[in-house]
Amino acid sequence: MSQSQETLSNLLQETRRFDPPAELAEAANVKADAYDEAAADRLGFWERQADRLTWAKRWDTVLDWNNPPFAKWFVGGELNVAYNCVDRHVEAGKGAKVAFHWEGEPEGDTRTLTYADLQREVNKAANALLELGVRKGDRVAIYMPMIPELPVAMLACARIGATHSVVFGGFSADALKTRIEDAQAKIVITADGGYRRGKASALKPTVDEAAAAVDCVEHVLVVRRTGEEVAEHERDVWWHDIVDRQSDEHTAEPHDAEHPLYILYTSGTTGKPKGILHTTGGYLTQVAYTHHAVFDLKPETDVYWCSADIGWVTGHSYIVYGPLANGATSVMYEGTPDTPHRGRWWEIIQKYKVSIFYTAPTAIRTFMKWGDDIPARFDLSSLRVLGSVGEPINPEAYVWYREHIGASKTPVVDTWWQTETGAVMISPLPGVTAGKPGAAMKPLPGIVADVVDDQAQGVPNGGGGFLVVKEPWPSMLRTIWGDDERYVKTYWSRFEGLYFAGDGAKKDDDGDLWLLGRVDDVMLVSGHNISTTEVESALVSHPKVAEAAVVGATDPVTGQAIVAFVIPRGSAGEEVEGEEFIKELRDHVSKTLGPIAKPRQIMIVPELPKTRSGKIMRRLLRDVAENRSIGDVTTLADSTVMDLISEKLPSAK
Ligand code: ATP
Ligand code: MG
Repeated sequence: MSQSQETLSNLLQETRRFDPPAELAEAANVKADAYDEAAADRLGFWERQADRLTWAKRWDTVLDWNNPPFAKWFVGGELNVAYNCVDRHVEAGKGAKVAFHWEGEPEGDTRTLTYADLQREVNKAANALLELGVRKGDRVAIYMPMIPELPVAMLACARIGATHSVVFGGFSADALKTRIEDAQAKIVITADGGYRRGKASALKPTVDEAAAAVDCVEHVLVVRRTGEEVAEHERDVWWHDIVDRQSDEHTAEPHDAEHPLYILYTSGTTGKPKGILHTTGGYLTQVAYTHHAVFDLKPETDVYWCSADIGWVTGHSYIVYGPLANGATSVMYEGTPDTPHRGRWWEIIQKYKVSIFYTAPTAIRTFMKWGDDIPARFDLSSLRVLGSVGEPINPEAYVWYREHIGASKTPVVDTWWQTETGAVMISPLPGVTAGKPGAAMKPLPGIVADVVDDQAQGVPNGGGGFLVVKEPWPSMLRTIWGDDERYVKTYWSRFEGLYFAGDGAKKDDDGDLWLLGRVDDVMLVSGHNISTTEVESALVSHPKVAEAAVVGATDPVTGQAIVAFVIPRGSAGEEVEGEEFIKELRDHVSKTLGPIAKPRQIMIVPELPKTRSGKIMRRLLRDVAENRSIGDVTTLADSTVMDLISEKLPSAK
């Protein structure tokens, strides 16, 4: 955001409201009084949430903030994460309860893991890691498809106190190598491959290449998933050779509340990924609480499904640690949403009677593009809460999600958080909040966040600026792995004593929060700071638009001018090229947001550049809009997308 401008313009007016269903509100896990309870005694509130967990030794001090921004939560406490996620449920007589309904991509390839199964598998894997020489404090890299051995491997690490670093299975050998090296991982756990888009997709060759390029890796532990042939090296050990013959008993020893649980690299939308460090007690406390509060999880009756990949923080916190700490029954799916057909996800919801579903706006917009008739063919009546994460959700996408997936009755919780925050920070509560499409609403109980101007002053209602967190929270990152200085500089230096998230936001007239995208992406047009999110949402609200990405390009007259890239919706395809459609869209934005937001240029494109976690990479589009050669595309999900877009350029208007 520019120096001269203090606030973000607030252009989009959205007046639709959705009250929580009465029945849900009545029986909700968390009611409105939680906000007051937490405000009256924030640390006491978090202590009560920590009591959801089983501690081997109780903490002496809830928060040590004597050396900010280096926080210690539940100081002196000891617990074991794997014990909390698995064993204690078995001890409570719930061994036969399903932890995961696992669905492979090839149809009919399914596995069911109860909590008792999970306990045996985790214990065997923990014993195998010990046999391979892994000790408490060692780092273990994990590069796996979405198969049950992935959460098993993570829990086995947590059990013995090894710090895992999960690297998304779509990353290149070079990206994997950098992450292995940065964490100095001793072991890499992988598989021969996984299934994606109807085919076996190899992982092992990538690991071979990465492991050969570093000198820290002693063993590569390989799960056989696809059965495809793999090159064998001396450092390789098959999972079935070593894990299967281990004892299924292992005594979990407690670890310090601040023991490093995992390192996870951010998704790299804005630059070089950072190795975010999360620790044990505070992290598990907040993921368990938020999963209980935000999704209203009733572990005895709900079937919960988060469609993220475990390679991202959403999968860590809301497929593995939060749901398991709460004793939930979850669905886990290996493949892509369009294999073998575009209704696969809805078929899975119908099959397992999923009641809580958590996905990303990029997926929702894709389903809108594919057409309403696809979800309409399935029975989705079991759903009662829907969640969204990863990007701001455009109001039109929210309303579509609620209507076509949620039968116009389910609350939609738009959850704002980051790899760094470890758990959800800002979100509606499904039994409390009258939802506004596109708004993340309020900080959760126990979280203190605000929108400030460039002088760190809170903006009034109706204003916009920088999102900050004002008080430490239990699941906050503790540092960037190996780089305390970068931790301080990146998050704690923009505003004295405040955590700077890097995102823009506005407060509406009721004081509710709306996320406006990265502050790096904000456009300065004729002296107005305009967020990409608002212009994109205005475009997506046009019935013929499926997806839109907007950037600011240097302009001699206005400073920056708005350039939009638009994917047309469903059958709109052919008839939408051309002058007239583009004029219609420009006028539509002008009418929705005001003439200041009217794009100078709109390009109709077949795809948008996205990271592997599905976020739009605007910096590459800015290169296109400013006629520069295109920058680093290595974190793109599909590097050919930029060629597709460039081919379209001559038709640019
Ligand atoms: P990097 O920090 O390396 O650029 P990244 O920020 O994309 O990568 P993540 O931690 O996965 O990596 O993403 C967090 C970001 O995603 C947030 O800072 C925010 O910009 C965006 N985000 C997540 N959830 C929401 C949401 N509900 N509403 C708006 N934005 C969201
Ligand atoms: Mg980030």
